[in-house]
Amino acid sequence: MEKIKCLIIGAGPAGYAAAIYAARAGLNPVMYTGPQPGGQLMITNDVENYPGYPEGRNGPEMMEDFKKQAARFETDIRNEMITKVDFSGPVHKVWTEAGLEIHAHTVIIATGASAKWLGIPGEDRLQNLGVSACAVCDGFFFRKQEVAIVGGGDTAAEESTYLAKICKTVHLLVRRDEMRASKIMQERVMNTPNLIVHWNTSPEEVLGDDGVTGVRIRNNKTQEVSTLDVTGFFVAIGHKPNTDVFEDWLDRDDSGYLLTTPGRTFTKVPGVFACGDAQDKIYRQAVTAAGTGCMAALDAERYLVEQGV
Ligand code: NDP
Repeated sequence: MEKIKCLIIGAGPAGYAAAIYAARAGLNPVMYTGPQPGGQLMITNDVENYPGYPEGRNGPEMMEDFKKQAARFETDIRNEMITKVDFSGPVHKVWTEAGLEIHAHTVIIATGASAKWLGIPGEDRLQNLGVSACAVCDGFFFRKQEVAIVGGGDTAAEESTYLAKICKTVHLLVRRDEMRASKIMQERVMNTPNLIVHWNTSPEEVLGDDGVTGVRIRNNKTQEVSTLDVTGFFVAIGHKPNTDVFEDWLDRDDSGYLLTTPGRTFTKVPGVFACGDAQDKIYRQAVTAAGTGCMAALDAERYLVEQGV
């Protein structure tokens, strides 16, 4: 068993910002990165909206910067999962995947969110055989090929234009007659010649045995069913917060986002704080995640002072 002052769960912008603040405040934070160190920016292309990077910055490189900064102040960064928690007592108990029990005076939850899947036939079976939720990770494998991508938000807009630079043709499947992506992103979609938008269209099945050979689609207005001959199928329909491990101890909304006191990072358990996309379904930006990570570390620091730790 290990006793610590401050545990940070998650290593995206929120987790690293919390680590930088907690470490500089002398809380000797221990960070468990979870399965995707760096969080969602690891599967992002250029980040152009993070202040301080006038030319933009590649997502994984930006997260390497965050990590170096957290490590510079001696955050103890461990590439492992937290698989169980017990928030019943004043000292918060957590267990790692390898079975280590940790007793932490404060816990900062920065577990972020993960990609959602459609749940249609073929999607699961053909994952890593042509089905992907990350164009930036996997687009390379479909160079000069024909691919389809589903979604109508900023992620779908960004990923479809990214794929269009690599692939021969990209079919963007939008289930309504409009996209919810921001205007500037929609303009990029419309101005990309090898990107075909299929309005009112939903995929029904991903086809193929050892690899994707096509996708069966339905026009939601006419009910016409047809097949697109594609070798790649990308899903970009939003995200689910990674909060299941806390469900017995903390309040969550219907979508699984952790509930915090408005304007603060307090969960209902004293000493347990939540930040980043795990608790933010409105803004979900790297900069807002980092901002709430900072808030969580400041809240943790004040809590420890109040507790006399
Ligand atoms: P969103 O929740 O914004 O959009 C999800 C999209 O997927 C919607 O268009 C939705 O359709 C569609 N969808 C959901 N379920 C299905 C389904 N079963 N079948 C077909 N389509 C479906 O998620 P995003 O990941 O796009 O964006 C999340 C947040 O991140 C947003 O705030 C966005 O602005 C931000 N973001 C910003 C970026 C940037 O600034 N560079 C890049 C990427 C994301 P419908 O509209 O009909 O509900």
